[in-house]
Amino acid sequence: MYEQNKGFPVEPPGVATGKQVAIIGGGPAGLTAAYYLAKAGHKVTVFESLPFAGGMLKVGIPDYRLPADVLAAEIKAIEGMGVTIKTNTRFGKDVTFADLEKQGFSAVFIAVGAHADQKLGIPGEELKGVISGINYLRDVKLGQAADVKGKTVLVVGGGNVAIDSARSAVRNGAKEVHVVYRHRKEDMPAFADEIIEAEHESVNFTLMTAPVSVQGAGGMVTGLECQESVPGDFDKSGRRRPVPVEGSNFVIPADVVIAAIGQNVQLDGITDAGVQTARGLVAVDPASMATNIPYIFAGGDCASGPDTAIGAIAQGKKAAAAIDKYLGGTGAVVEPRALTRKISGEIIEEKMAREVATCLPVAERRSFAEVENGFTREQAIAEATRCLRCDVK
Ligand SMILES: Cc1cc2nc3c(=O)[nH]c(=O)nc-3n(C[C@H](O)[C@H](O)[C@H](O)COP(=O)(O)OP(=O)(O)OC[C@H]3O[C@@H](n4cnc5c(N)ncnc54)[C@H](O)[C@@H]3O)c2cc1C
Repeated sequence: MYEQNKGFPVEPPGVATGKQVAIIGGGPAGLTAAYYLAKAGHKVTVFESLPFAGGMLKVGIPDYRLPADVLAAEIKAIEGMGVTIKTNTRFGKDVTFADLEKQGFSAVFIAVGAHADQKLGIPGEELKGVISGINYLRDVKLGQAADVKGKTVLVVGGGNVAIDSARSAVRNGAKEVHVVYRHRKEDMPAFADEIIEAEHESVNFTLMTAPVSVQGAGGMVTGLECQESVPGDFDKSGRRRPVPVEGSNFVIPADVVIAAIGQNVQLDGITDAGVQTARGLVAVDPASMATNIPYIFAGGDCASGPDTAIGAIAQGKKAAAAIDKYLGGTGAVVEPRALTRKISGEIIEEKMAREVATCLPVAERRSFAEVENGFTREQAIAEATRCLRCDVK
């Protein structure tokens, strides 16, 4: 069983092509591209700035949601295919495009994610006790997080980073944890079930409320001044614009303020070779993940903006196909799966439809019995087959 294996079986690399590919960033996008490029026979080196690979799966998503040993085993299996992962190596500082060219790399895949935190942009942000959600979650993973034991922690934001920060602070012994969000709860970008679990864990929510200033004494945080809003017109994303209520300012006392209002891409070193960017992201052709420089490709959060693991995996797979083609291969890096067709000698992967859970027949819905039945065993296996190798038994 997959659970017992704790990872992918190590697969043999493809017949060596003699071509070298550099991957910048060892998150799901980079590791997926590494896996498929190694399967296509290319020599792959991943350059990772942190002391370990895994990206946000390793330093963002907390262990209570994604066990570290499963991730470690999967990374080990990719290394087992001959992929070299050079950790503690920061692109733009320890290695540049010119270095890669000198070392004989013929193509580069940029997959650096979105690791820069967005500032609150309010007075008092420099006070001791104001920390970023991304940094807090990373430091929790590294065992060096700010001590929140017995403290009142206030998290600003409504995405997964905010909810994971709040739930991690609960686990780290905070006395009280509050999430302050400027829209309604149903507008929060965080996964709905994570919000519910946070509520079960006694996280408090202060909604339709925006931070105005961080209050402090002696250089330390003492609270967050907030302003209430009411829902206004609908904006482009279908959310109601918050309209601040004048004179509604109030202070929530706090010892720690965690800012989790967004992530940006760190582009240092990337634009050096003339790689174009758009709205702070690496600009790519979405069909091939190619940048404007022929040998440089990009994907994952650094090209899409903060998204999901499966989104990054899909882009890593797409980029691997395009890179293989650029290096003279067929571009068919994906192993034949359950639904494939051979057209003119080329294996085409057909899109497998998402499995739909069976539901209680409508005629039987005159009670409060659960409507969704979940997947059958066969459906669960078929659904897993749509993913990278989640079907491994
Ligand atoms: C707190 C949190 C919770 C999340 N929860 C979920 C969830 O439940 N489900 C889900 O699907 N998605 C979730 N996501 C989103 C998901 O983790 C990301 O979309 C995904 O990890 C992006 O993959 P990536 O490979 O593009 O980038 P990352 O995972 O960010 O990996 C990028 C890698 O590049 C490295 N790097 C950065 N700069 C450099 C450089 N200059 N040189 C070398 N290496 C560099 C980084 O250290 C990192 O290892 C969550 C994200 C966060 C932050």
